[in-house]
Amino acid sequence: MRAARSPLAARTVGFTESVIREMTRLNAVHGGINLAQGFPNFAAPTEVKEAAKRAIDADLNQYAITWGSKSLRDALARTYRDLYTMAVDPETMLTVTCGSTEAMVSTLLAIVDPGDEVVVLEPFYENYGPDAAICGATPVFVPLRPPSFTFDPDELRRAFTSRTRAIIVNTPNNPTGRVFSRAELELIAGLCRDHDAICVTDEIYEHIKYAGAHIPIATLEGMAERTVTISGASKTFSVTGWRVGWIVAAPELTAGIRKVHDFVTVGAPAPLQEAVAVALELGRPYYDRLARDYHARRDILVRALEAAGFAPNTPEGAYYVLCDIRPFGFADDVAFARWLVSEVGVAGVPGSSFFSRRELGRHLIRFTFCKTEDLLNEAGARLARTHELASRSRDRSRSASSA
Ligand code: GLN
Repeated sequence: MRAARSPLAARTVGFTESVIREMTRLNAVHGGINLAQGFPNFAAPTEVKEAAKRAIDADLNQYAITWGSKSLRDALARTYRDLYTMAVDPETMLTVTCGSTEAMVSTLLAIVDPGDEVVVLEPFYENYGPDAAICGATPVFVPLRPPSFTFDPDELRRAFTSRTRAIIVNTPNNPTGRVFSRAELELIAGLCRDHDAICVTDEIYEHIKYAGAHIPIATLEGMAERTVTISGASKTFSVTGWRVGWIVAAPELTAGIRKVHDFVTVGAPAPLQEAVAVALELGRPYYDRLARDYHARRDILVRALEAAGFAPNTPEGAYYVLCDIRPFGFADDVAFARWLVSEVGVAGVPGSSFFSRRELGRHLIRFTFCKTEDLLNEAGARLARTHELASRSRDRSRSASSA
């Protein structure tokens, strides 16, 4: 008799459930404060919500053009020109996707052949691992070393080989909060040019940064033709559930990416694309205010974490704080995160989920601060008891084991 084969394809075997999404579910069970998954608990801008309602009422409810409604692509082209002096032809260089999540996987499916190497800076947003697996790429990890989370230029140089097809860059960075400097981006750009590799850059946090201007790597010399720039509305306009993202790339790359995107999704939600086109008109004053508000939220959470003994790393951008958990006497980040949500009532993401070699993140936890100041203050008050509750838990388990 033939052995029963697994009903699942080999490419899924290495997949684990997303730890970020799992923590959100666990948090709901314990009624905790969710500082795990990065979604805002505050309202999207009124004018953006009104625009979505108007679009639905106007019956813009059928498929948009597969690579994005004309109004959104035109608004994006204007935005990239005004903010970054990037020349983006809306007819040939833009693809609107179902969030930047789809943007990343459609891009990699379009440009990577099985066996190609893709350089990933580690720690990394957990989707990049499965993204590489889905297209059969071999990820090559280069560490971002704490406490500053910089890469060693020589290590990065060594990671590029004749098999390198692409590098994934994420700046501002999730989970480290790093914003790569112009010098670091120049080094990456030089390696891409020398090795004829493509830079796939996830810039979803482009407007959430606490000093200086955002530098799209596509604006560096010789990079426009070899960069795929990914971003989206989710974080900038606090609409993570809308699933509207986009890809800017040279026409030849865009042509391939659009085909994958079309066959996988047909297109992003049509009325919401209209609303995001309106959102982009809010422009610079809106982005400045967003960054200021996040700065205040960052400071509340970082101070609370410091006071509670977490040794947080103050981020330069994005809305996450990585913290060292060793002061609390837990050897394992997953056990600590589970304990924290059930006993302290605050959810974070275990650090190991951002590493290919899980042990590198065993001493870390990530908290997000995309929450109202009230909720962050409440989380701070709960976290202040972490030391006390941890030592009580230790006492309890000691007396249980000696009983
Ligand atoms: N990017 C966000 C995070 O890291 C949300 C991830 C998700 O669940 N899509 O938490």
